[in-house]
Amino acid sequence: MIYKRSSALFSEAERVIPGGVNSPVRAFKGVGGTPIFVKEAKGAYLFDEDGNTLIDYINSWGPMILGHAYEPVVNAVIEKAKKGTSFGMPTEIETKIAELAVSMVPHIDKIRFVNSGTEACMSAVRLARGFTKKDKIVKFSGCYHGHSDSFLIQAGSGASTFGVPNSPGVTQGTAKDTLLAKYNDIENVKALIASNTDEIACIIIEPVAGNMGCIPPKDDFLKKLRTLCDAHNILLIFDEVMTGFRLAKGGAQELFDVKADIVCFGKVIGGGLPVGAFAARHEIMDYLAPIGPVYQAGTLSGNPLAMAAGLAMLTELNTDAEIFNRLEEKTSYLHKGMAKVLNDNNVVHTINRVGSMISVHFAEDAVIDFDTAANGNNDTFKAFFHGMLQQGIYIAPSAFETWFIADALSYKDLDKTISAVNHVAKSL
Ligand SMILES: *Cc1c(COP(=O)(O)O)cnc(C)c1O
Repeated sequence: MIYKRSSALFSEAERVIPGGVNSPVRAFKGVGGTPIFVKEAKGAYLFDEDGNTLIDYINSWGPMILGHAYEPVVNAVIEKAKKGTSFGMPTEIETKIAELAVSMVPHIDKIRFVNSGTEACMSAVRLARGFTKKDKIVKFSGCYHGHSDSFLIQAGSGASTFGVPNSPGVTQGTAKDTLLAKYNDIENVKALIASNTDEIACIIIEPVAGNMGCIPPKDDFLKKLRTLCDAHNILLIFDEVMTGFRLAKGGAQELFDVKADIVCFGKVIGGGLPVGAFAARHEIMDYLAPIGPVYQAGTLSGNPLAMAAGLAMLTELNTDAEIFNRLEEKTSYLHKGMAKVLNDNNVVHTINRVGSMISVHFAEDAVIDFDTAANGNNDTFKAFFHGMLQQGIYIAPSAFETWFIADALSYKDLDKTISAVNHVAKSL
């Protein structure tokens, strides 16, 4: 593969953008080498600035669940753009997408749109604190909830890749209100609650962790969290920025049959435009300004282009009765195929998967939390990443990321990917 133009564009970018990128993981620091500059994308494929074609397993980190440049979404944006791109006034389409989202997701009555997953989680926590009149929050090591201060404490993916789980600039005062728990360890959560009686406003969790590779919740872990929250007047926040509208119409709440008090969205809900959202029952949502005391706002929130893309995306997911089954089948096919060739080549590995989220960990033991994810062999991952890239397969440039399967992937693409894994495995 040639990276001539990508490499030149990266040098140029580095002069005017810190590290040459607008989001750290894109810089390839976790794997070394030159980040690839994409020119355009269609369906399952990326076309880069050097003329290479790549099968894409990142899909913009989740949003492009149907593939790139999906026509109904693109057309909705084009038509909307002709009529003005922002007003700072209410528009009908905001109600349309809100109605659709509320109809698809269980246990929510109202939803507020913001511009990113970060904003959604940050606002959800403020709302939980305002509503419960308590200050502390519980988050799990390795879970990522965006880059707002309260969450930059063992935050997974980007932060884990770089080995700086606590960012300078986050004050001691903020950090002391964030309690860290171990994913999949209910006793650990119980102990935290016991030593902070009546101080915890919320527990925020990725119901399927996706930012330390993919890690499923153990049997009944989420149900047990629900029970603990009910017993201690704590709100349970599901950060479904990754899982929402991906694992099922109703996300993880539907898949695991567990009710969350507040749900955060991002990624898929925006169809590839910058959108986030948070939602809950009336009682909680009515605590927000302008009718409640908790302040939250956004000049571009509910932006017409973003709402048009999101509405087109959710409409597709809502009307295609087979979509989540198809995604599950494709991902399961990939899972089995990769496991076989990795085993055939005696490569030590663990594959974790839930629905269309999947990750390969080069670890011997089961990967169930941040520590076991961190035990994976990073050198093997780097070699695997670059080997796959040479074969025309683009996976996330970090061992702590999930692969996102898009419906645009054909079985031919999956077979090509499995034979690439077979080829690369021989040199690991
Ligand atoms: C991506 C992600 C976020 C942050 O969303 P941004 O749009 O990048 O701000 C929050 N939570 C989870 C679970 C995510 O995967």
